[in-house]
Amino acid sequence: MRRPLIAGNWKMYKTPAEAVDFVQRFAPLVAGIADRDIMIAPAFPALAAVAAALKGTSVGLGAQDVFWEAEGAFTGQVAPRMLVACGCRYAIIGHSERRQYFGETDAGVCRKIQSAVAAGLIPVMCVGETEAEREAGQTFPVLDKQIQNGLEGLIADQLTALVIAYEPVWAIGTGKTATAGQAQEAHQFIRSRVAERFGPALPGALRILYGGSVKPENISELMAMADIDGALVGGASLKPDSFAGIVKFK
Ligand code: PEP
Repeated sequence: MRRPLIAGNWKMYKTPAEAVDFVQRFAPLVAGIADRDIMIAPAFPALAAVAAALKGTSVGLGAQDVFWEAEGAFTGQVAPRMLVACGCRYAIIGHSERRQYFGETDAGVCRKIQSAVAAGLIPVMCVGETEAEREAGQTFPVLDKQIQNGLEGLIADQLTALVIAYEPVWAIGTGKTATAGQAQEAHQFIRSRVAERFGPALPGALRILYGGSVKPENISELMAMADIDGALVGGASLKPDSFAGIVKFK
């Protein structure tokens, strides 16, 4: 059995004080939950404060991005070891907003995954098709390309903790959720492609999260699918009650 992971991506919301306030209200709502992993990914300036606020809880900390170099003259970038030093266990890599607005490429995603893994971070690699790609029947080829290129040169031993998030771009922040059937079909495809590439051991343990307008009302139906192992949640992770409602899916 794969252990579910419910992850919150706070994007460019919450100052350090607002983020700590969230944690103080959220942690009691999920105290004692031991059968699933929980992660929140605040913006960089809030990481240290959130790490301190999360001490003594079982909620993990993640970053929303990471750079591939260990240090150097790379203005504005943050190295994996800096995230580890801030208390991060996870790094989201290749989110569609980074691909769409900041020129993130599959090759860049691949370098980031390599350096995140080398630093001991769990990469949460995001893949997903646009609406136009889905309508053109290109969903599987697009996912295949993102997976093959994003994991190019990596070996199974480096990826034992890898998490993949399937996030159809048309469902992110739009209120449109993929049906549980559409999500399951994509997750099954992703798992089979990883199996072809890396052999059967890795995909059995690989956690594949669904992301795209997940809410307390739709999480249980999604989690009932065989290949859906959790969720990457944007908007609904910003409020303690709604994120706790998702974490507590039945
Ligand atoms: C996301 O940012 O990864 C996301 C899935 O956002 P939302 O839940 O708001 O659609």
